[in-house]
Amino acid sequence: MGVSDNIKQFLKTEIPENVKLIAVSKTKPVETILEAYQSGHKIFGENKAQDLASKYEQLPKDIEWHMIGHMQSNKVKYIAPFVSLIHGVDSFKLLKVINKEGEKNKRKIDCLLQFHIATEETKFGLDLIEASKFLTTEEFGNLEYVNICGVMGMATFTENEDTIRTEFKELVHIFNELKNIFFANNNSFKEISMGMSGDYKIAIEEGATMVRIGSLLFGIRNY
Ligand SMILES: *Cc1c(COP(=O)(O)O)cnc(C)c1O
Repeated sequence: MGVSDNIKQFLKTEIPENVKLIAVSKTKPVETILEAYQSGHKIFGENKAQDLASKYEQLPKDIEWHMIGHMQSNKVKYIAPFVSLIHGVDSFKLLKVINKEGEKNKRKIDCLLQFHIATEETKFGLDLIEASKFLTTEEFGNLEYVNICGVMGMATFTENEDTIRTEFKELVHIFNELKNIFFANNNSFKEISMGMSGDYKIAIEEGATMVRIGSLLFGIRNY
C-alpha cells in the first residue's frame, strides 16, 4: 500500500473521532508528502524549523503544519508566519520568543507545553513546578501573541507497557492540574499530545487528543 492508503486506513481503523492525527513527515521529501496529501489528510508534523519552512513553501497552503520537535529560540522566526501548533515549548524563554515573533507577524501562535515524563535524560521538557512558576507571573499574563492549548510529552522508548502507561497517566495528571489551577476559564486549553508509532494505542486509551505518527504511515526513516 502507498502512503495515501496507509493514512486512510489508519484513520479509519486506529483513530477515534475525537483524536487528531499528526502525520509526521520529517525526513520525507515533498513528493511523498504530496502523495500523503492525496488521502485528504491535511495535518503534518516536522521536527526541524527550516525543513518545516521549506516544505510549507513547496506544498499546498491548506496544510496545517505542526512543529513537533525541540524548538530553538533563534529558529522560531522561520515558522512563526504560518505554523499551526508548536508542540515542544519547554521554557518560558522560548515562549517569550514565540510571543515576540507572533507580534511581528500579527498572529497569535498556538503552543503546547512539553513535559518531561520519560526516564531518559535526553528527552526535553518542563516539570510541574517549573511551569507553575512562570504561569503565575504577570509577565506570562501579558503575553498576547501566544495561546497555550495544552500539553505534550514523550514516553520512554521501551517495550514495557506499564512504564509507558504510567508516564502517559502522569502527563494527563499534569494536564488536569494545570487546567484546574491556571486554565479553568480558557477553553483552548484542551489538548494532550502523546503517542507515536510504538505507543499510540496506550496513549489513546489514556486520553490523548493528538497522536504524532511517523514511521507507521511513511515507513522507516532513513537519515
Ligand atoms: C519522530 C517523532 C514522532 C513520530 O515518531 P514515529 O515513531 O515515527 O511515529 C513523534 N513525535 C516526535 C516529537 C518525533 O520527533
